[in-house]
Amino acid sequence: MGINVTQSSMPLYEEYCDEIKELWDSHWLTNMGVKHRKFQADLEEYLNTPHAILYTNGHLALENVLAALNLPIGGEVITTPFTFASTTHAIVRNNLVPVFCDINDTDYTMDVTKIEDLITDATCAIVPVHVYGNLCDIEAIDLIAKKYDLKVIYDAAHAFGVEKNGVNAANFGDASMFSFHATKVFNTIEGGAITFADNSLVQVMNDMKNFGIRGTESVNFVGGNAKMNEFQAAMGICNLRHVDEEIQKRQKVVARYRERLTGIEGIKLSTPQIGVRSNFAYFPVIFDGYKYTRDRVHELLKENDIVARKYFYPLTNCFECYQDYPTAGGEKTPVAQYIADRVLTLPLYADLPMEDVDRICDIVLG
Ligand SMILES: *Cc1c(COP(=O)(O)O)cnc(C)c1O
Repeated sequence: MGINVTQSSMPLYEEYCDEIKELWDSHWLTNMGVKHRKFQADLEEYLNTPHAILYTNGHLALENVLAALNLPIGGEVITTPFTFASTTHAIVRNNLVPVFCDINDTDYTMDVTKIEDLITDATCAIVPVHVYGNLCDIEAIDLIAKKYDLKVIYDAAHAFGVEKNGVNAANFGDASMFSFHATKVFNTIEGGAITFADNSLVQVMNDMKNFGIRGTESVNFVGGNAKMNEFQAAMGICNLRHVDEEIQKRQKVVARYRERLTGIEGIKLSTPQIGVRSNFAYFPVIFDGYKYTRDRVHELLKENDIVARKYFYPLTNCFECYQDYPTAGGEKTPVAQYIADRVLTLPLYADLPMEDVDRICDIVLG
């Protein structure tokens, strides 16, 4: 039987039906109804964060928070190309210029030793990306941001439930974006949130997602529409009850992968970060000098109806749409290019049977 790279977490059918039952009485399907309000409260408690504003997806949450921070048009934003299209697109769609910083080759997050060289008078923000459930070097980024008076907005799409020394990833920088897309550790089908501590951001983040409508007869802000609906919120309420259990199951899958693939010549695994409780979002493997190339392993798995993913490949600074950008080109971020050319994320989800993990490893090990 085939194995997909991931499988969306879902509550029991009955649990979800119970949760949405009252919507058939109220006929209230969206516009910050009871499910939206409950999910927001549950989420703020789980993430232990002052504010979590819900969005219909993570990308619009990121696009909107960048707009909400009033960054200057044409301002430069330091980010990394080792990410999903969303991060770079959100910057560019706000008329900001992405300046690509390389990543480090241990946890694949922004190489903080290379940030300062990229800062100019036009730099206004840093958008670092937590990758695979690894956290960025938050302390170093914080120091640089303070020194140069820069905003820091984390793309935390991969970091739901991740903690450093007991502090949840929702509480770093000026704001963090979470994605609750179906493929993530925690999902609301599609969905996302922005978390932050600054009370003055609450109104604008709410305005951004609901046309700036503040009352039946008052529109105070030129906002768009990016509201999370009641069915998404209900899914969130249900899935949140089980997310810790899901993460524990993922941890077991990852432990088995590590057991089978550690110490193999030409195979490199990422090192668990000290003090970090990971969410085991992805299991990246670097094939470097292995008997098979990354692309060959990808093919071998495919021949067995197993989907692994070249993630992230290509780098965003290699996308056709960024060809004409002065900051584009993978050669400017050699470590990111090196990893992107060699990485494969293996199938990983809470209910992936151990026999399947073994079968995948058998194929990889040939
Ligand atoms: C999934 C993801 C996003 C976008 O989130 P959506 O909810 O799909 O819009 C952004 N950045 C990264 C790193 C992601 O993995």
